[in-house]
Amino acid sequence: MKIIFHPRFYEVYTSDPASAPGRMEAMVKALEGKYEFIEPEPAQERDLERVHGRQHIQSVKGDLLVYEIGLLAAGGAILAGEMAFDGQPAFGLIRPPGHHASPHSCWGFCYFNNIAIAIKRLIHEEKINRALILDFDLHYGDGTANTFGGTRALTYFHPEGAQRQTFLDVIQQTLGSDKNYDIIAISAGFDRHEEDWGGLLKTEDYHSIGKWAREFSIENCQGRRFAVLEGGYNHSVLGKNVRSFLQGFTD
Ligand SMILES: [Zn+2]
Repeated sequence: MKIIFHPRFYEVYTSDPASAPGRMEAMVKALEGKYEFIEPEPAQERDLERVHGRQHIQSVKGDLLVYEIGLLAAGGAILAGEMAFDGQPAFGLIRPPGHHASPHSCWGFCYFNNIAIAIKRLIHEEKINRALILDFDLHYGDGTANTFGGTRALTYFHPEGAQRQTFLDVIQQTLGSDKNYDIIAISAGFDRHEEDWGGLLKTEDYHSIGKWAREFSIENCQGRRFAVLEGGYNHSVLGKNVRSFLQGFTD
C-alpha cells in the first residue's frame, strides 16, 4: 500500500474547510513511517477534458493557485488508479476533493473530479471496461454520478442509512453481491464519523469498510483497488480514521 501525497497539498489554497490549515498535517502524521509516500505529477489538461468541459476548466484556471493544486490532486488520483491497475493498492491523500465536481460545474469545496478523471483515463487506455465506485463520504457525490450518468462502464454506489448498523449492512451486502468489475475505487470521505459533521460512524467502522472493499477486489478484480480522500473536517480524529480505513484496505 502506497500513499500518494505532494507537499503542495499543505498549501491553503482557499478559505473552505477542505483547505483548512492543519488538515493534511493531521493525516500525514498518522500515516508517516507506516507507509511509503510517493509524489504525483500534475494531471494533463487532456486528462481533465475526459470529464470536464473547456469552459469549466477555464473558470477554475481563473484562480491559478487552486488550478495548480487541483491538477496535482487529479494527478494523484490518476497515479493511484494506474498503480492499482498494476496490482499495487494505493491511497490518494489529496486535496481539493472532487466528488461534487460535475462536467460543467462544481461546488462543495471541489473543482475537478479526481476519481472520475482517474477512472476515465483507465477506460481511455483500454485497461478496464467496468468500475465500481464506493463513495462513503457523508455527502452524495453528484459530480461523480453526473459524469457517468447511467453508462454501463461505471456503477456509482453511495450508501445511506440513518442508523450506524444499517449503513454498514448496506455496504457489506452490496459489496457481497455485486460482481463483474475490473477495479474498485473508493471516494473516502470521513465526515460521517461520530465526531465529525455526520455524527454516525465509529473509527473501527472505517476498518470494516476498508476490509470489505479489499475482499471485494480480491474476489472480483484481481485485487485492483484504490481510494482517494474526499471530505472529513475534524482534524483531531481524521488521522486515526484514515489509518483505520487503510489498515482494513491493506493486505
Ligand atoms: Zn462530505
